[in-house]
Amino acid sequence: MKDKEYKSLKENYSYVVAEDEVVRCRRCGKPFDNKKKIMRVSSLLNIPTEELEYCNECKQTITAEKILKNWKERFGEIRRSKI
Ligand SMILES: [Zn+2]
Repeated sequence: MKDKEYKSLKENYSYVVAEDEVVRCRRCGKPFDNKKKIMRVSSLLNIPTEELEYCNECKQTITAEKILKNWKERFGEIRRSKI
């Protein structure tokens, strides 16, 4: 998403934060966003809401774990057989 689009999304939805349901990260439990914004982003980007219910820190960790898992699946066997 472009910065400009993100900013306008933020401006449009910041006013509902106080009355909206707080979303906690599915991994660490830290409150980081509100339900309406998550649902809006989910429909805009066509991504399931579950995938958006992680804080930035956990998103980074999860992405790193996915890359590592893929890497192990692809190269793990080759690496082991060489040793
Ligand atoms: Zn988290």
